[in-house]
Amino acid sequence: MAGGLEDSNQQQGGGIVTYECIRCGTKTTSEELRTLPELKCICGFRIFRKVRPPIAKRVKAV
Ligand SMILES: [Zn+2]
Repeated sequence: MAGGLEDSNQQQGGGIVTYECIRCGTKTTSEELRTLPELKCICGFRIFRKVRPPIAKRVKAV
């Protein structure tokens, strides 16, 4: 068997990025945006800001 890269793997670096429309607050993901013909929110606005996904950080309880 020849070794090969698996395309099914997601991009390195943690995966999907979530974006939020700065106008209406609708959240969408980079994967969803990729399927759209243009970067546009359902409200018509085109400016998104990156939202940090809720990563489980280890926070020390003080
Ligand atoms: Zn919007």
